[in-house]
This record gives sequence, structure tokens and C-alpha cells, in this order.
Amino acid sequence: MRGERLDAYWFHEREWESYDALQDAFEWTVPERFNLADYVCDRWADDVDGDRVALYAASDEDGHDETVTYADLADYTNRLAGYLASRGVERGDRVGVHAPQTPETAIAHIAVWKLGAVSVPLSTLFGTEGLRYRLADSGAVACVSYGEHVETLREVRPETAIETVVTVDADPEGDEHEFWAAIDAATPVDGAVDTAAEEDAIVIYTSGTTGDPKGVRHAHRVLLGDLPVFLTSFCNLDLRDDDVLWTPSEWAWVATLFDVVFPGLFYGKPVVAYDGGPFDPETAFDIVERYDVSLFFAPPTALRMMVQADPSAYDLSSVRVVPSGGESLGESIVEWAETTFEGAAVHEAYGQTEANMLVGDCTALTEFREGTIGPAGPGHEVAVLDPETRDPLGPGEVGEIAVRYEDDPVCFVEYLGKPEATRGKVRDGWLLTEDLGEMDADGYVTFLGRTDGVIISAGYRIGPVEIEEALATHPAVANAGVIGVPDDERGEVPKAFVVLADGVEGSDDLVTALRDHVRGRLAKYEYPRAVEFVDGLPTTETGKLRRASLEEREGLR
Ligand code: ATP
Ligand code: MG
Repeated sequence: MRGERLDAYWFHEREWESYDALQDAFEWTVPERFNLADYVCDRWADDVDGDRVALYAASDEDGHDETVTYADLADYTNRLAGYLASRGVERGDRVGVHAPQTPETAIAHIAVWKLGAVSVPLSTLFGTEGLRYRLADSGAVACVSYGEHVETLREVRPETAIETVVTVDADPEGDEHEFWAAIDAATPVDGAVDTAAEEDAIVIYTSGTTGDPKGVRHAHRVLLGDLPVFLTSFCNLDLRDDDVLWTPSEWAWVATLFDVVFPGLFYGKPVVAYDGGPFDPETAFDIVERYDVSLFFAPPTALRMMVQADPSAYDLSSVRVVPSGGESLGESIVEWAETTFEGAAVHEAYGQTEANMLVGDCTALTEFREGTIGPAGPGHEVAVLDPETRDPLGPGEVGEIAVRYEDDPVCFVEYLGKPEATRGKVRDGWLLTEDLGEMDADGYVTFLGRTDGVIISAGYRIGPVEIEEALATHPAVANAGVIGVPDDERGEVPKAFVVLADGVEGSDDLVTALRDHVRGRLAKYEYPRAVEFVDGLPTTETGKLRRASLEEREGLR
């Protein structure tokens, strides 16, 4: 049946004795025929649930600017699908979604899926080269674009295969069409085409931390793969009738789309869309208060900015869980968030574009262990492998974090057009995360850095993240990035780029103090031998530290 309940993904409704019991009992259910649009939209659009709110479009003023019910969502997506079909978009074609946090973004993805076509989320932060690369690489034939960002699309369009441009909040030019006018005029389709769970639904690009971003092909089943950690870590095993989800991150990344927006819609909950430009901590507090946001997914960078703002004027008591991830969170932020959101559970989760949300805290059933990213989510077989033999290592041994590839719906199909890269990524039945970690005897995973970022110094393996985090605990330090630089004696040594806190001046004494500080916290051999004070650190579009740029700066790339 289309859009059926799928009992396996409602395990939060049962009582569990322990996390182990839940992990043992969980089994993947992946129907052979499965189209995402049936599950995140049409199944809630009947007479019983149709009036539920699917999306709140938040405004800068008080109150709900606009709401989209599930019945509306089904209607708009049928119509947009009809319009795209009339423009020749076919099953398997790729369609760019180049729009910020707005209802139109969700509508566009779902409409594309209804045709059996493949959506390609594109950040509005991309400049011309970022957009051109992804549109050309994905071979997209159509693109939905928003406001001022349409200009960027117009500039790069001649170098792409784009035949259809749909504009939102921007006057169409030439052969372009306006989104809502297209919806009004279209002959609607009758729901989603019948697709296999294995058919492509989406191509998402990796962040490009290490090199060119790679297009990651995900099948319709991917959402099912994300639901267990959504329930354990993002909801802490509790979903309520009045839950409201929001993330300040753009709806262009795997974590926002598949851990917030589409799981929210899968469970028939409302998701807040707010298109407010660059992140502003005060506005974030305000949105949480106004919409009674209860599940608030915020990346560490956003939380770090919120720490600087004053939350006292806001009522943040609606927040129940603050999941975070994408990069290391750090203890001080956990403490701050627990206090600020009045006892909310702060959970770190871990995943990547190729296999999202594998591991995460679930304090309803597990204890919080400082420094770890929690245990593997139900259904995922996560291990730490010996880098040479690819055999699973024992507790406390450092190796590469990996997940069993076969039969785990969260795993990607392959990289688009990069068979070599896929072969390097999936080996001996494991999807290799290219991240280093260790697992304790109870299965809690500690993230230690990326395999490529590991510094091997006089035979010691040193994770840059540990040093960065240790530096960040020093009061003189605002932020730090660490890379390995060549050294005659030790092969490689860690070098730290340090952004100082406001009002602090760099000096030789401070360098010594910072080195001693890290050495005291980590290990005698584990401290930055070189320290350079900088004004800022290079980051990716998602705000992650880009160590590759620091290496370029040092002439190492
Ligand atoms: P590219 O693959 O193009 O180099 P990327 O790996 O940064 O870029 P993403 O797939 O967006 O692109 O990011 C996933 C990576 O983010 C993980 O492999 C890991 O290195 C890091 N990460 C995710 N969650 C966490 C976390 N909780 N703590 C630390 N790092 C994390
Ligand atoms: Mg990666």
C-alpha cells in the first residue's frame, strides 16, 4: 500500500528497557515500491489529517505569516509536478532546487519526486562557480531559483543543460516562469508515480572540505535510513502532538533535509521555514519562542554564535531536544545549551552526506558520555576498522569509522559519475567514513578527526580536532585550526592557527602558555609545536573549518 504506516519506524511509541534492547529488536523495513512523496506528503493529505500544518513560513513580524497544510502541500506539489512534466521533465531527470528556507523549497523537492525525477539541493550561498560546478556536474535540466539568487543562475545557465527556470520571488525574464503562476496554470498530476525504493530521489553534494564536492546519489529509501537516529537522537524517543521542528541551517544539506524537514513531514509534524538571510542569534531565539519550537537542530557554529547573545528576554521553554552535529560540539556548548534551553537534552549526532546520521546520543535510554558522539543508531552496524586489514578493532583502539554498506538504507548508491571515488569509499562491504575514531566497550564512539587530517608525528597519531578543542578551552582563544606541517625530525608536527579572543594580544609568552595548556590536557607529545595568530579561519559554505585551505596557505597543496 502506498504511504502506509511502516511500523518499524514508530518504535518511540513503545517502552524500551534499554538502548541495547531497542538495537536488538530493530529491523529495517524497506518496501520494494516506495516513493518519498507518498510518505512525507500525500499520506497526511486526507480528510482526517489534511488540515494539519506542514509548514509555517515565518516572517519577521509576530505571528504566522503563512501556513501550508498537508492538503495544500499535496495540491501544490501535484500542480508543480504537472507543470514540470509539461516542460518535458521526465523520470530520472535532475532538477536543481536553489532556494532558501521557504515552503517553495519543500514543494519543489516533493514535486520532483512525484515525477520520479531527482532533486538537487543547491545552497543560495554558492557563488557562480559553486553553482555552475554542481549544475553542470549533475546535468540538471531544470532549476527552481529564488529572489536575488536567480541572477547567479542566469549568469551560469549558458554553461549548463538547464532548459526550464522557475523563479520564486523574482520577476521571470525570457523563457523563465514564475513559481506560483506555474502552479496556478498547471494541470495537476494524480500523486506520485510508482517508483522502486532503489530509484534515485536526490543528488546531494558533499561540503567539499577535502577537494571538489562530490555528487552523492541517494535512493528514495534514504529517508528510512535516517529515521532511527531521528527518533533516538533528534527526538530523544519522544514525539508529541504539539511538536514543532526548526533548524536555522539552510535546507540544502543532507542533515537539514533528511534529519529535520522530511522526517518532520514523515511524522505529520509542522516544520518552520524562515528565510532571514545570514544567521542572527537574536532572531533564532525569537523564532524558537514565537513558534514554540520543541525540536531545535542547530549546528555547532550556530550554537557558538548564540552563546555570545543574551537569551534572557526570550521564553525558550518549548525546546525539548537540541541535536547538533556536522562538526565537533565541545563540552562548554553542551552545558550552555542545557542551561539556556532550560533542561533540554543536548545531543551530538554524527554522519556524512554519503551515510547520514549513523551515531548519536539518546539520553532517554543512554547516559551522556563526555567527549563521545554516542552509540550507533538502531539498525546501523558501525565499527572502527584497522586501516590496513579492515578488520574491526577492539575497544579503545583508534581506526577508521565505518558502517556496513549492504542493506543499510541510509547508505548512498554511489558518487555521480565518479566510479573510482565510489570504489575507494565502499570496500569489503564497508562504507568507509574517512574519519578516525575509537569505540569503547559499550559501543560509544569518539570522533578523533578525519583520516586525511591525521598528523603522524614521531610515530604518534595525533588528531587535529583534539588539539583544536584543547586550545579552545584556553580563555585567550576564540577559535583554532590545526594541520600537520613537515618536520625533519618528527616527520610531521601539528601547527595551530589561532584566532585570539577580543582584546587579547599575541606574544611569545602566550605561544608558550598555549603549548603548555594543550600538553597538560592531552599528552606530552600532543601539542602544537608551531602557533600562528590569525584574524580568521577559512571555512566551507556550511561554516566548517577548511583545513585544506590552511594547508594551501602553508604551501602543502
Ligand atoms: P568532503 O567529503 O567533500 O571533503 P565533508 O566530508 O566535510 O566534505 P559532509 O558530508 O558534509 O562533507 O560532512 C561530513 C563530515 O563531517 C564527516 O565525515 C565528519 O568528518 C564531520 N562530522 C559530522 N558529524 C560530526 C560530529 N558530530 N563531530 C565531528 N565531526 C563531524
Ligand atoms: Mg566527506
